[in-house]
Amino acid sequence: MTWQADIITLFPELFPGPLGISLTGRALEKGLWACTAHDLRSHGKGRHHAVDDTPYGGGAGMVMRPDVVASALDALPGDGRPVIYPTPRGRPFSQRDAKRLAAGSGVVILCGRYEGVDERVLEARGIEQFSIGDFVLSGGEIPACALLEACVRLLPGVMGSSDSATEESFENGLLEYPHYTKPAEWEGLSIPSVLLSGNHRDIAAWRHDQSQRITQSKRPDLWAQYAARKPGI
Ligand code: SAM
Repeated sequence: MTWQADIITLFPELFPGPLGISLTGRALEKGLWACTAHDLRSHGKGRHHAVDDTPYGGGAGMVMRPDVVASALDALPGDGRPVIYPTPRGRPFSQRDAKRLAAGSGVVILCGRYEGVDERVLEARGIEQFSIGDFVLSGGEIPACALLEACVRLLPGVMGSSDSATEESFENGLLEYPHYTKPAEWEGLSIPSVLLSGNHRDIAAWRHDQSQRITQSKRPDLWAQYAARKPGI
C-alpha cells in the first residue's frame, strides 16, 4: 500500500522539493509513497482569500485562522492518519516518532507561517505538535520535508541492504561510531589500526566503545537514558 503524505501549505510548489531526488525520489517514482500538497489559500476568506488575521490580545504578527485551517483539513479523507503541525513549541521529533509514523498509512502535515496557527484548531482536531530543533524558521515547509524524509527512508523497500538503518544513530539509544574510508593515510592522518585488523569481534567492540564515548560527550541527555537502562556501565 502506498504511504500517503498530504501537506497543507501556502507554498504547494515547494513539494516534493528535495524529497523528489535520490532515495526518497526513487521511492516516489516506484509508488512506495505519495506526496500531495494542498494550497491553504484556496480555503481563504473573502475577495483576497485571507488565511490569517491579527492576534487577540495585540502584539506583532499574524495568526492563521482556525476556520480556514479546519476547512483545509476537513476537505481531506477522514482516514485516521495522524495530523502533524511542526512548531518550535512541539515535542522534539525523534527517530521513535519516525518509526511509528512510517508504520502507519501516512500523515497529514499542516505547515505554519507567520506567528503560527490559532490554538483552538490544534486542540479541536487533535493535532500532534513536533519541533525539529530549538530554533525558529519562517515556515513549516522545511520541517515537513525533514519529518517526511525521516519517515519515508524507513518504509519497506526504500533503503537497500547497503544503506540499512539497523546500525544508525539512535537505533540502540547511542550515536553512531565514526567512519573512515580510503586512503588509509591522508594529510598525515591514519585510521584506527583495529579497522585494518580483519578481526570482526574487535572491530564491533571498538565501534561500540566509540558510540558510548561520543554519546557521553556530545549528548549527555541520551547517555543518561542509555545508562539508566544498562546498570553497571
Ligand atoms: N511564533 C512561533 C514561536 O515563537 O514559537 C514561531 C512561528 S514560525 C515564524 C512560523 C512557522 O514555522 C511555525 O508555525 C512552524 O510551522 C514553523 N517552524 C518554525 N520553526 C520550527 C521548528 N523549530 N520546528 C518545527 N516547525 C517550525
